[in-house]
Amino acid sequence: MALAIEQHYDVVIVGAGMVGASLANALVCNPQRKPPSLLVVEAAAPLKSDDQILQPGFDIRSTVLSASTVEYFRVLGIWEHLVSHAEPIIDIHVSDKGRFGSVRLDSATERVPALGYVTENRALGLALNKALLAQEHVEVSAPVTVESISPCPGGMSLRLKSNEQGKEQVITASLVVLADGGRSGLPAQLGISQAREKYGQSALIANVAFTSHHNGRAWERFTPKGPLALLPLSDIDGMHRAALVWTHPDKDIQQIFELGDQEFLTQLQLDFGNRVGKFTKVGKRAMFPLALSTADEQIRPALVLLGNVAHTLHPVAGQGFNLALRDTMALAENILVSIAQDISPGDFKRLQCYVNEVNTDQLMTIRFSDYMTRMFSSSNLVIAGVRHLGMASIDLLPPLRNTLSRQSMGMRQARVRL
Ligand SMILES: Cc1cc2nc3c(=O)[nH]c(=O)nc-3n(C[C@H](O)[C@H](O)[C@H](O)COP(=O)(O)OP(=O)(O)OC[C@H]3O[C@@H](n4cnc5c(N)ncnc54)[C@H](O)[C@@H]3O)c2cc1C
Repeated sequence: MALAIEQHYDVVIVGAGMVGASLANALVCNPQRKPPSLLVVEAAAPLKSDDQILQPGFDIRSTVLSASTVEYFRVLGIWEHLVSHAEPIIDIHVSDKGRFGSVRLDSATERVPALGYVTENRALGLALNKALLAQEHVEVSAPVTVESISPCPGGMSLRLKSNEQGKEQVITASLVVLADGGRSGLPAQLGISQAREKYGQSALIANVAFTSHHNGRAWERFTPKGPLALLPLSDIDGMHRAALVWTHPDKDIQQIFELGDQEFLTQLQLDFGNRVGKFTKVGKRAMFPLALSTADEQIRPALVLLGNVAHTLHPVAGQGFNLALRDTMALAENILVSIAQDISPGDFKRLQCYVNEVNTDQLMTIRFSDYMTRMFSSSNLVIAGVRHLGMASIDLLPPLRNTLSRQSMGMRQARVRL
């Protein structure tokens, strides 16, 4: 039976993960600008800003926030809720297991207080939800799943289903922003396919404790199995901690995941060495299969794909969310200008302006993180030799090192002011 259309919005955001919640905040953070009528639909659970946070993206992972992301979070009023949970990265140490030599990128050379900040995803979720729930111009529907989206005159029609009462509802929007993390199957329903290239690797994530303080250093270590990153976290009860991202070939990951704690720490010590003393504890573990995935179309009339559903990157270079936030800020600016000029925010020409604006940044960032992954994951002797040469030249040539740190810091693109 066809349901009556219950409500029309200028913008509906599907998903209140890191990206959807950031966009919602960006659209309403400046009281001087006319906001769109805005609905955020989240499948997981009612949004909360306490321990009960349940959106799936805010799991046990940690995220490296680049300098431009921190700048944007200040504009969005999110940084004030996050700063006490964010550990600064003072320098980054890049090395290759079994070879001498390393590259160091440091904040003093870059003349910045920190190269980036590491925050646990849970703290990030709390900060995003807190900022969002304080906004009077945002309506949130949760736990509600968007079951289908289809074009209709003036925009898109969405069929929603409440996950608690099972009640169904149809609404329309001038613009739908799909920020579902690639979890919904909605792009396939619309005939939008994803180009997916598997790396044959999975990342094992856990927080670990050790005996020597990290002193604000992040480590990126390349092993024949794949890259291993150790990202500094704040101490808890005098315990020195870091977030581990340990990449393994898909065929080995289950076995490492299931190791007993002591055996796990011994293996880690062998791959990482003694740079932080002795590993003493490992927290809850999670696994993520890794692939480079990009949507064939990011825009259609009245539709934008944003965040992981538009592009999912290997986490080795810590760029996925940072890139998505730069897209988000550009999209928010585009929508606010449309609203101010009385143009539909789903107008295709306006959305093309958005894509043209973010296209080069996306291409460069995707290439950078793909290059880092392939270059630094291979045990092929020739590639390992080139990698070693590459690392030596990065260390010897300050302009190259500058380019690398600026790309890792996401410094070039912090432009949108809202
Ligand atoms: C191991 C690992 C480490 C990483 N580290 C970094 C890093 O250091 N720096 C960095 O920049 N990036 C990092 N990333 C990338 C980053 O995690 C992603 O870019 C980010 O999670 C993308 O967020 P999202 O909002 O697009 O998706 P998600 O966080 O998946 O959010 C999607 C939301 O949509 C909701 N949803 C789905 N379907 C529906 C539906 N039908 N109806 C309603 N709601 C729906 C879901 O419930 C969910 O809450 C890392 C990724 C991994 C895997």
